[in-house]
Amino acid sequence: MSADPKALYQEVILDHNRKPRNYGLLDHPSHHAEGVNPLCGDHINVALDLAGDTVAGIAFQGESCAICKASASLMTVAVKGKSRSDAQTLIHEFVDMATGRLDVKNSQHIGRLAVFSGISALPMRVKCAILPWHTLQAAFNAVPSTSTEDDADPMHTPIGDA
Ligand code: ZN
Repeated sequence: MSADPKALYQEVILDHNRKPRNYGLLDHPSHHAEGVNPLCGDHINVALDLAGDTVAGIAFQGESCAICKASASLMTVAVKGKSRSDAQTLIHEFVDMATGRLDVKNSQHIGRLAVFSGISALPMRVKCAILPWHTLQAAFNAVPSTSTEDDADPMHTPIGDA
């Protein structure tokens, strides 16, 4: 692994585009949502299988740019097996990191996702990186679709246990 954050970022993006993790469909998802980012043309579907409070299964599919696809792939790896509340903590921390509101040094959760910390300096790409996480949040909240350009985006409303 490279110590240069930029090289590591490119390596991770390439790796997850070549071999996206958890790419495809779930047989019987308990929750799912689709998300679009009209600014880039990203369009993804996220399906979840919640077993009680645990994310037992997660998969994504869609047409998107490399940043969105890598973010979705890393997201599925990060939240699989986690509790719903831990997954939601991660959603918030990722969005805060990507928008420059969270210093990764202050997070115990972000882990490998820190490769995306430089994205906050690239305003055109922030929404690409965030879209999968918005879509996961929509799936948790049983909102069938979300858009990065929509006022009703679930990230704009407080997250309850609903
Ligand atoms: Zn994109």
